[in-house]
Amino acid sequence: MPKIQRFLWRACASGLAIGDALNRRNINVDPLCGHCGECETTSHILLGCAYAKVVWFGCPLGSISSMNGNPSISDWIYGWKSFSNQGKKEARSLITLCSFVCWFLWLSRIDLVFGRRLWHPSEIISAAVKAFQEFMDVQSIAATISPTTLILTQRWIAPSADFIKCNCDASLSLDLCRSGIGFICRDHRGMPLIVVSDPISFSDVMVGEAHAIRMALLEMIKTGFAQVMVESDNINLITHIQDGGGTSPLLIRVIIDDIIHLSSFFVCCSFTYIPRGAWLTPWLGKLCR
Ligand SMILES: [Zn+2]
Repeated sequence: MPKIQRFLWRACASGLAIGDALNRRNINVDPLCGHCGECETTSHILLGCAYAKVVWFGCPLGSISSMNGNPSISDWIYGWKSFSNQGKKEARSLITLCSFVCWFLWLSRIDLVFGRRLWHPSEIISAAVKAFQEFMDVQSIAATISPTTLILTQRWIAPSADFIKCNCDASLSLDLCRSGIGFICRDHRGMPLIVVSDPISFSDVMVGEAHAIRMALLEMIKTGFAQVMVESDNINLITHIQDGGGTSPLLIRVIIDDIIHLSSFFVCCSFTYIPRGAWLTPWLGKLCR
């Protein structure tokens, strides 16, 4: 789509009208991000901002939530050429969906700056997925497969129709003193219903993973989900929860007790270990770490 190609080209060439670029041209506008207050650069808006990370985390492409630092948008887009390893059709799907997510992040930023409205991250995901589907339909590519199915089915197994599946994750970078948790709840179609990414502080990754599960359970109780499946890539944590918490390290025992208590609020609640990356696309996994 030429409009989006031009947009991405301008993003790489620092040609978008954002705070940082305008200030360098002596145009006096607020140089700070409207979401988090950090310096507003193109890379920040599209990749580095916690708001953008929630969108990437929740979209069918996988998670970018554990990304450390603020990678350059041009380097990231340049890296899209590695998609070709996945085959021509898959590469085209990945590039198209990435492009639409960037585009709707940009549109949401314009709406925010002009005070029109604040997009919820799930609205950006839905808009990008819808635009992707329409584009692929017009191109007669993968017309019979939903984008979610297209990209997710290889790595993420949908729950049955009456269940919600919640994937939890935590990231910790000791050298950069950054940590954060995230979780995403999807229905049987793979559509994100709750997407949360929170830069909370912890010094042990299992503590972070436990916090992520506890926060996810609280959100799911609040939302009124009755049957849930919780997945984490921390096998020790899942084992401790399944064992009832009695043998868990003191560091996490209180959180595990909470998790077990909260799980009793559901009609059905299971905890399962899945290997890291089973629900992330490999290329995003590499970018994050
Ligand atoms: Zn920001």
